[in-house]
Parts: sequence; C-alpha cells; structure tokens
Amino acid sequence: MKQKIRCTVCKKGHYVESTIDYDYRGIVIPNAPCYKCSSCGDIVFSPEHYEKIREKMKTIYSPLVLKRKISKAGNRPAVYLPKDLIDDLGLSIGADIFMYLEKIGKKKRLVIESET
Ligand SMILES: [Zn+2]
Repeated sequence: MKQKIRCTVCKKGHYVESTIDYDYRGIVIPNAPCYKCSSCGDIVFSPEHYEKIREKMKTIYSPLVLKRKISKAGNRPAVYLPKDLIDDLGLSIGADIFMYLEKIGKKKRLVIESET
C-alpha cells in the first residue's frame, strides 16, 4: 500500500503495515502480515498477505487426509474412524459429534467436529 488508504471503519486513521496472531479455525498463525488502522485498529488483508499467511500455515499445519470407503452398517452407509483420530479429537465411543457439509465452489466436504 504505497499511498495512504483511509480506514473504511472509523474514517479517521490510515492503514499501516502490521502483524497479528491470525486465528484460522483455532489454528493460530503468529505474526501474520496485515494492514491495521492507526486510529481504530481495524484489520484488513491484501492478496499478498493471504499468500504469506497460507505459506506460514503450511509450515504449522499439515492437514490429516485419510482415504476411506463407505461401508455398510445394517442398511445404512457407514464410515469407520481410526482410533488415533478419535483420541486426537478427545472423543470416545458414545460421544456426540457435529457433522456438516462445507461447499467451497463446486467441491463439497464433510467436516466432523467434537463438541468442545
Ligand atoms: Zn479506523
């Protein structure tokens, strides 16, 4: 940001180069680059900032990817979950989980979250 960009929130301050602890779904990326308003502290990211954050994220967080087949339990589709994964989520048999569908463009993904 070469010329000063006035803050769109308070309309008093200007955005200056700064860093924050960027929280992406509970994964904290320390010292993530951003622009911060000199007056109210509003935070914005440029595409370059997002690129740097993605790079930092790769070094911190390597996503777990498991390939599974849909099995059958009775007449219903079932997926067996590895014990390590369940332990890692702090779950045990009988625990409640949340499942939801995420749509990112044309891609769909099933997300499983522990209650806590
Ligand atoms: Zn501001």
